[in-house]
Amino acid sequence: MDDDVFLVRFWGVRGSISVSGPEFSRYGGNTTCIEMQCGKHTLLFDAGSGLRPAGGALRASGVTDFDLLFTHCHYDHIIGLPFFAPIYDRNVKVTLWSGHLAGRMTTRQMVDEFMQPPWFPVKLEICKASLDCRDFVSGDVLRPREGVVVRTGSLIHPGGCIGYRVEWGGRVVAMITDTEHEPDKLDQAVLGLIEDADLVIYDCTYTEEEMERRRGNGHSTWQQGVKLCEAAGARRLALFHHDPTRTDEELDEIEKLAKDRFAGAFAARDGQTLKFPVSLRKKR
Ligand SMILES: [Zn+2]
Ligand SMILES: [Zn+2]
Repeated sequence: MDDDVFLVRFWGVRGSISVSGPEFSRYGGNTTCIEMQCGKHTLLFDAGSGLRPAGGALRASGVTDFDLLFTHCHYDHIIGLPFFAPIYDRNVKVTLWSGHLAGRMTTRQMVDEFMQPPWFPVKLEICKASLDCRDFVSGDVLRPREGVVVRTGSLIHPGGCIGYRVEWGGRVVAMITDTEHEPDKLDQAVLGLIEDADLVIYDCTYTEEEMERRRGNGHSTWQQGVKLCEAAGARRLALFHHDPTRTDEELDEIEKLAKDRFAGAFAARDGQTLKFPVSLRKKR
C-alpha cells in the first residue's frame, strides 16, 4: 500500500448479472465492485460478485479496517456480500454506508433483509466482523477516514441510486452508476460530481442506438459519458457496468469508438488497476 498514491482497482465491471465463458475472458464477468486506496485508507464501492475476489486480496494484504459504500442494492451491486470472507473474520472492522433508501430503510435493515433464509442459508448474525452501519442522505459530504472526502448525489435510477465523488491527495475519482440520462440533456447533479475529475467511472450499459428501446431501465451510454466528461473537464472515462451480453470483441469495438471521441476513454476490465500519484495541485 502506497502512502502517496490514489489507487483504483476494478474487481467487477459487469452490470445486471455476472457472466462467464471464453467470450468474456478479457473484460471479465464479475458484477460491480471497485476498490479505492487513498494512501493507507481502503474504500470499497458496491458489493457485486467482484467483492468476493476483493475480499481475498484484502485478507492477503492484511487490511482489517475499511469502508464499504453502496450505490444502491439491486442484486448486481449486493450479491457478493455473503461471499465476502472478511465479514466472517472477528479481527475485521467494516463500516457500511448507504443513502439511496434514506427515510425508507436503514443500511442495517437493507443488509439484514437481504442476507437471510430462505434466500441465503444463514443470517447476518453469524458474521464475526464488527459491522458499523451508517446512513446518509444524498447531498451529504462524508469523511470516512482522515483526509478522505466523499461527496454524494442522486442518480436517475428506479428505486434510487447514489453517485460518489471521492477526493483525496488533490485527486478526484467519481463513480456514477447506475443512471439514466435524458435525451440531449446533461444531468447537473452528475456534472457537479465529476467536475475536473481525474477519473470518471460511468454507467455505459448501452449505446445511443440501443437506448431507444431501453428507456426506463435506468442506464446510460458511452456517448453520454463522453459528453459529460467533456463538459466537466474530466480527464479519464472508464466505461463501466457492461451489459451482460457484451462480448470482448464488442467491448473492443466500443472502446475504440469511445477513444476516437475522447482520448481518455477506456473500457474497464476486471482486475485492472489505475494509479494517481498525490497531486501538488491545489487541494479540492
Ligand atoms: Zn446495476
Ligand atoms: Zn440498478
